[in-house]
Amino acid sequence: EPVIELVDARKTYRTGEIEFEALRGIDLQVTEGEYVAIMGPSGSGKSTLMNILGCLDVLTTGSYRLGGEDVEQLSEADLARVRNRQIGFVFQQFHLLPTLSAWRNVELPMVYGQVAKAERRERAEAALTRVGLGDRLDNRPGELSGGQQQRVAVARALAGEPTMILADEPTGNLDSASTADVLGLFDELHEAGRTIVLITHELEVAQRARRIVFVRDGRITSDEQVREVAA
Ligand code: ADP
Ligand code: ADP
Repeated sequence: EPVIELVDARKTYRTGEIEFEALRGIDLQVTEGEYVAIMGPSGSGKSTLMNILGCLDVLTTGSYRLGGEDVEQLSEADLARVRNRQIGFVFQQFHLLPTLSAWRNVELPMVYGQVAKAERRERAEAALTRVGLGDRLDNRPGELSGGQQQRVAVARALAGEPTMILADEPTGNLDSASTADVLGLFDELHEAGRTIVLITHELEVAQRARRIVFVRDGRITSDEQVREVAA
């Protein structure tokens, strides 16, 4: 069974009298362990698709199955549970709390996920070590570079042992060196068998994935395996 299965997914926004169909029949399957980039120009529907895949919003029509669950059928509370258990989010703006140390930031979602305290600390340390920040546990975000801050965010995503990592423009705020750093980390996670969905409008970033899905005007216009892996 695929991790992600979207069938004829449609999303219509209504603003007063005006309706706009942002997703116009998306069919998409992602299998466990795949590293997929979703690419498209501004306004093509990437954010809308990200919100759907991340269970932050629901489809107008069509179906979405995530990790074997029919997302369409879920209550708000169950959606929150699926988000917390199944998805490790990585955002462009990191979304780290500036007053908390790296390990406290990584621990936070597990507090909401009701993981016991000792286990939270252990998992946070393991995740930070995994992303190469085992020596920065007690540093606050302001004491870390942009690339390191995004690594903390990736550690936070990993600590919950999610079904998939969902990254929205994860390098959009980074310089070239930090971008290379974070993309290198994604390569490693892919090699370790993680399922990664990366949303980006940058071709060089998308080409680091193993499959690129192009979206335009709310439709998939191409879906290709990447043959040559960029160095
Ligand atoms: P992208 O992330 O690729 O820039 P979006 O998913 O943000 O695209 O937007 C796709 C289209 O849907 C755009 O035309 C946008 O203006 C429209 N749209 C997005 N969100 C809303 C909303 N909440 N209400 C109305 N229209 C929206
Ligand atoms: P991104 O930079 O990720 O593509 P956008 O700038 O397209 O994001 O959208 C930012 C937020 O504004 C999203 O939550 C989106 O749903 C909302 N939005 C985008 N277009 C519209 C619109 N035409 N009307 C209302 N909300 C919109």
